[in-house]
Amino acid sequence: MPVKEARSAFIVKPGSRVDLTRIDPRETFGFSDKDAAAKHIEGNVKRLFDAQRRLWAENKRALLIVLQGMDTSGKDGTIRHCMTGLDPSGVKVVSFKRPTEKELDHDFLWRVHAQAPGKGEIGVFNRSHYEDVLVVRVHGLIDMRTCRRRYEHIRAFESLLADSGVMVLKFFLHISKDEQKARLEERLADPTKNWKFEEGDLAERRKWDEYQRAYEDAMGATSTAEAPWFIVPSDRKWFRNLCVSQVIAETVESLKIQYPKPHVDVKKIKVR
Ligand code: AMP
Ligand code: MG
Repeated sequence: MPVKEARSAFIVKPGSRVDLTRIDPRETFGFSDKDAAAKHIEGNVKRLFDAQRRLWAENKRALLIVLQGMDTSGKDGTIRHCMTGLDPSGVKVVSFKRPTEKELDHDFLWRVHAQAPGKGEIGVFNRSHYEDVLVVRVHGLIDMRTCRRRYEHIRAFESLLADSGVMVLKFFLHISKDEQKARLEERLADPTKNWKFEEGDLAERRKWDEYQRAYEDAMGATSTAEAPWFIVPSDRKWFRNLCVSQVIAETVESLKIQYPKPHVDVKKIKVR
């Protein structure tokens, strides 16, 4: 890995102001060896697989990975690359779409809390409760006062999860506007990707700067020691996968999860 400590390289320090214009989405720290990156990613996934087995056996804690980013930033691809090789029984991926009528009848965290991972599980949110301070803010559906109140609700919610043994890691996949253009064009050109193209994405693209502001404010207000944000340079897909898998692997290993002690003295028992 080009950066020894991925966690500290990409973390948003709690209480800091975020300026996305100062983080280059093309950054790779001088690393350009895609094949070596693929090896590292494979190694990270193996580390995560080992941690998953311990997490499952321990049955006390959970891991929640939140993925956010502009359209085409690679949320699906990150899941495909970083979660492949895990035991599907213990992984729950949830994609949050525009809320239904029923969901809108409740507070914005209602549908999200219901999807939080249970003990021993790894949960992945493809979009999340953060949409309620991003798209909703950019479209003027809430005012800034409500938005700031929501940051407080989010901090309290994530703190509740942490108190209940859920480790929360939040990733912002940071792409450039040029890279988004190229990826949208690819969706139009490649018949196997046509289905992903939505005209609405162009309307959102026109609000690029507002979205960047909304992300900066949200990450600055909600990056905490219990539920930190990581800003991942994501114009290069291989570098994005490397960073995300590395941060997750480092984090789960730091927990030093042990297999439970046997209920019996295994040396004294004979199976006949
Ligand atoms: P996709 O990720 O391409 O499947 O698109 C999902 C869409 O649902 C995106 O346009 C999101 O902005 C939208 N969405 C997700 N959560 C919310 C929310 N809480 N409020 C409004 N729109 C949302
Ligand atoms: Mg989409």
